[in-house]
Amino acid sequence: MLLQGKVAVVTGGTRGIGFAIVKKFLENGAKVALLGSRQETVDKALQKIKEEDANAEVVGYWPNLMDASEVEEVFTKVKDMYGSLDILVNNAGVSARESFYDYKPEEFEKVIDLNLNSVFICAQAAAKIMKEQGGGVILNTSSMVSLYGQPAGVSYPASKFAVNGLTKSLARELGKDQIRVNAVAPGVTRTDMVAALPEDMVKRITAPIPLGRVGEPEEVANAFLFLASDMASYVTGEILSVDGAAMT
Ligand code: NAD
Repeated sequence: MLLQGKVAVVTGGTRGIGFAIVKKFLENGAKVALLGSRQETVDKALQKIKEEDANAEVVGYWPNLMDASEVEEVFTKVKDMYGSLDILVNNAGVSARESFYDYKPEEFEKVIDLNLNSVFICAQAAAKIMKEQGGGVILNTSSMVSLYGQPAGVSYPASKFAVNGLTKSLARELGKDQIRVNAVAPGVTRTDMVAALPEDMVKRITAPIPLGRVGEPEEVANAFLFLASDMASYVTGEILSVDGAAMT
């Protein structure tokens, strides 16, 4: 039980990697607030969890992650209900694959808004609470493309490069308040985001992976569990790749 007594918020917790993180944290003793974009998907995720474990200590919310006051309100609710906010996982994200020549600025901004600006907003709201309570852990979901770029949908790698910068800089700024900040950079992982990619693109992406397969959401969740736990008490400012050594 690596997270016994800890309270976590996971954005984008309704499916894919986020849902695997929520389940992993619950299995390890945490109380969890899972966040999604709509009440319907949040309720569905909560129901799925309760079917497996009726006693799971989990709640769900659907704030606009780009609205600082909505985020602050939800984080305060979680702290008041469960007594603290120890771990924030910034996981909500969207991918992109538009050609650069046809890419509209407003479409570019939409990706930056969710993948980067919401991370700033959520991290700030959580850090204020964590500072007051004497510490905490902020974990961001980056991507292997944050190290190598990708040949389309430039907003996506741009946002994830920035997430790495935010991670390393916040680790340096918030260390004095005992707040650790790390990121996990998954490779191609079997989720809806990958299912939405054209098959030839998935084949092209997986071909050079030394482990010869895509990753499973649970394998990525294991890295989050390690970084969230006291096992990683002296780890901060790291970008941990979970990508089968793709492109290295
Ligand atoms: P997914 O599409 O399965 O899930 C995305 C989650 O984000 C959902 O819970 C959704 O509700 C939430 N979300 C989407 N738009 C939102 C919005 N506007 N407001 C609030 N929440 C919103 O995606 P996934 O594959 O599980 O990806 C999760 C994270 O992992 C993302 O940050 C993604 O960039 C990253 N990632 C995924 C892969 C992969 O291969 N799947 C690889 C590298 C990084």
